[in-house]
Amino acid sequence: MTALGELADLAEGPLLPGADDAMYLLECVLVFEGVAYWADDLAWAVAGEEYCLPCPGCAAELVVYDKACTDETGGSRPLVHADPRRLTGIGRRLHDTAIGHGRQHVAEGILRLFGQATCPLCATEFSVAGRVL
Ligand SMILES: [Zn+2]
Repeated sequence: MTALGELADLAEGPLLPGADDAMYLLECVLVFEGVAYWADDLAWAVAGEEYCLPCPGCAAELVVYDKACTDETGGSRPLVHADPRRLTGIGRRLHDTAIGHGRQHVAEGILRLFGQATCPLCATEFSVAGRVL
């Protein structure tokens, strides 16, 4: 059995019954996938909370939340969530794991995390996951 399979089995047991525990499961999966640490921004991104990212194009500090990416001048561009049918790799595994365990809100967070943001200042498009993973 793979480590991911063992974690999935564990998630069905009494040790991981709650929504917060689903986040810990995803953290474990990421560790096995070779992501060295669980960044705070990653947890915020999945939870749909507000967090800051530097723009990869102009280095401006951007605020990202559920539906938009904003800059310090008040400019805003929509955050485009990933299409679940087009997810691949780690995004696909995380999303499937969340869905498979009835964690719809976490699955939605994965779509947010693997979505596309656009800098309101310089119009650079970038993957949110690429900045926080
Ligand atoms: Zn920019």
